[in-house]
Amino acid sequence: MKAFTIGRNENNDYKIDNNTVSGNHAELQIADDFKTFTLKDLNSTNGTSVNGQNIISKKIDEKQRIQLGTFSLESEELFSQLRTYILKNRTEFIAEFHQLKEIEIKYNKEKQNVNKYFKLKSALLKGGITIGLMVLVYNNAYVKSIEGIRIYLMLGIGTIGGIISTASISDKKVKEKLEDLYIDFSETFHCPKCKFDMTSKSWRFWKSKKKCPKCKCNWVK
Ligand SMILES: [Zn+2]
Repeated sequence: MKAFTIGRNENNDYKIDNNTVSGNHAELQIADDFKTFTLKDLNSTNGTSVNGQNIISKKIDEKQRIQLGTFSLESEELFSQLRTYILKNRTEFIAEFHQLKEIEIKYNKEKQNVNKYFKLKSALLKGGITIGLMVLVYNNAYVKSIEGIRIYLMLGIGTIGGIISTASISDKKVKEKLEDLYIDFSETFHCPKCKFDMTSKSWRFWKSKKKCPKCKCNWVK
C-alpha cells in the first residue's frame, strides 16, 4: 500500500501547518499486515525525531513521541487518520474474510445447542409429568375399584403429559435465545471493509462471489 505522507503541503495525507515542518516532511510506510508502521524522514530541513532521538527510518507505534521540526505530533490523532486511510485504501481483506467462516461455524453450533437443550428439557418434563400422573391414578382408591377403566386412564395420561409439557416449555424462551444469538452473529458477520450485511447467505456462498458486492474489496485470492 502507498505510504501515508505527512507534511506542510496540501497534497499530504496528514497536513501540518507549522513553519518548521517541511512541505513533504515524512511518511509512514505500511507493512502487509497493516499493523506495522515505519516512519521515514523525507530529507526534511529540520529533521524527524522519535522519543527525542533523530531518526531517518524507524518502526513506530502509538505510544511513541514523534516530533517533526519543533512540532510534536498528536499520536492519537495521527493513528486515527492512519487507520481511516488504511481502511479506505485497502482492497484486500482475505484474512478477515476467512475468520468469518469460524464465526459462522460457532453461531450454527450454538444455535443447535439451544434447540437441543430445550428439546431435552421438554422430554424430561414430559416424562416427569407422565410418571407423576400414573402413580397418582394407579394408587387412587376409586380408580382401583373400577378395574376395567384403569388401563384406559393410563393410556390417556401419556397424551395429557405431552400436552401439559408442551404448553409449559415456553417457545418464547427458545425464540429469545435464538434471537440473541442472531443479534451477536449479525454484528460480526459482515464485510470486513464496508460492513455489508452477509447474514442472508452462508459463508460458502459469499466465498464463491470472491468480492464484496457493495465495496468490491477482495475476499478471496
Ligand atoms: Zn464491502
